[in-house]
Amino acid sequence: MTPSAEPAAGARGTAVRSADAPAVESVETAVYTVPTGVPEADGTLAWDATTLVTVRVTAADVTGLGWSYGSPAAAEAVRAHLAAVVTGRPAWDVPAANDEMSRAVRNAARPGVIAHAVSAVDIALWDLKARLLGLPLVGLLGAARTEVPVYGSGGFTTYDDGRQDRQLRAWTEESGIPRVKIKIGESWGAREERDRDRVSRARRSVGDAVELYVDANGGYTRKQAVRLARHLDAEGVLWFEEPVSSDDPAGLAEVRAAVSADVTAGEYGYTLPYFHHMLAAGAVDCLQADVTRCGGITVWQRVAALAEARGLEISGHCAPHLHAHVAAAVPNLRHLEWFHDHVRIETALFTGALDPAGGSVRPGADGSPGHGMALRSDAERYRER
Ligand SMILES: [Mg+2]
Repeated sequence: MTPSAEPAAGARGTAVRSADAPAVESVETAVYTVPTGVPEADGTLAWDATTLVTVRVTAADVTGLGWSYGSPAAAEAVRAHLAAVVTGRPAWDVPAANDEMSRAVRNAARPGVIAHAVSAVDIALWDLKARLLGLPLVGLLGAARTEVPVYGSGGFTTYDDGRQDRQLRAWTEESGIPRVKIKIGESWGAREERDRDRVSRARRSVGDAVELYVDANGGYTRKQAVRLARHLDAEGVLWFEEPVSSDDPAGLAEVRAAVSADVTAGEYGYTLPYFHHMLAAGAVDCLQADVTRCGGITVWQRVAALAEARGLEISGHCAPHLHAHVAAAVPNLRHLEWFHDHVRIETALFTGALDPAGGSVRPGADGSPGHGMALRSDAERYRER
């Protein structure tokens, strides 16, 4: 069955049509692949290029832009499953569009690639609405703060000592960012001694005043993570991301109970209930969520509310320029990830990049409508289709 752009009688979408709302006229996708500067890897994956799928939605001659990092198949998912659902809908009613998209992809399987697609469309719709109204996105969502703290994130396991040191010092000394994160768990935890050395080197690079974080990307076993945490404690590491797989929330909870660093996870959350289950398992001290995966800005705000109800903070995972505005709109934000790979791409492909000098960004401060990002004309050289 082809999903219909027109909600069935009695569907939730029918009750929210605004007479004066411009209708969404088109939904277009593109795929860009940007090579890394040098090969990059974390504990459980290696890559030498990163793919970005963009979505552009148009209404009343105004275009909104969203994107997600992941499989190029997300572009096909937008065309096959979502474009017809969104086209013709009132541009004001983004949560209704999000709900209809989620319902339309039931049999295509929403978690995974399709959640990337839904997220990119949702972000494009929020950007479109803000631009139609001439507001910065944070102004449309409503600000809870003006400053969004960031942490420098990279420290790939492929880096040699010199490159790791230069990257960390660039964040702390050149940009004044007082929080940094490196990858550990190399080769699925098989190079634990090197992990320890790299953490100690990182501490020496940044000094004692900078918050030092690590991300194992699920590379360790439970007891291995607990043993390693003694070394992390000695180096003053405050954040231990995915010590074990996020598919093992009981394991995360077990590690959390045994270590002093905050245990964090959530980057693979594709539905709101996923985050509910993770919180119910007592798996994290700080919840992470990725606006380009979880269902877009609409769902990211709800994830933040789930965390707030449990007295926890939320941290934005990757895609820093898409998190900045929604991060500024929630009260229980800890920070967002200034991820090396995505900062590089978002600076190369778009105008409007934010400046993290001093350790925070101020989304919307220049008054630009929407999220303020626009494709550069020379982005075409990275375009695949
Ligand atoms: Mg991570």
